[in-house]
Amino acid sequence: MQRCETCHRFCGEPRQQQVGDMVDFTIVRGNGRTRKVSVRTGKLMLIKEDGFSVIYRGTVYHSDAVSHPDDPSPLTLAFVGLCACPREASHP
Ligand SMILES: [Zn+2]
Repeated sequence: MQRCETCHRFCGEPRQQQVGDMVDFTIVRGNGRTRKVSVRTGKLMLIKEDGFSVIYRGTVYHSDAVSHPDDPSPLTLAFVGLCACPREASHP
């Protein structure tokens, strides 16, 4: 993905992941008030209808969303946001 020159949010299509690729994903630990979210890089094992299975240090995690290490992580995306600028007509 790229940074929009106008609003500096992210725009463009995220890279598509395939099984076996290294991906960034989020781990949520704890519950209730002590939720802690962190981003790890693991190997994509399985693409499911409701998410992804990622193996990290021998443990398989379920993740709702994964991203290419070169792309912004879901956390970064949520923080920075997506570009909503109108596209130029000449740019499909
Ligand atoms: Zn923009």
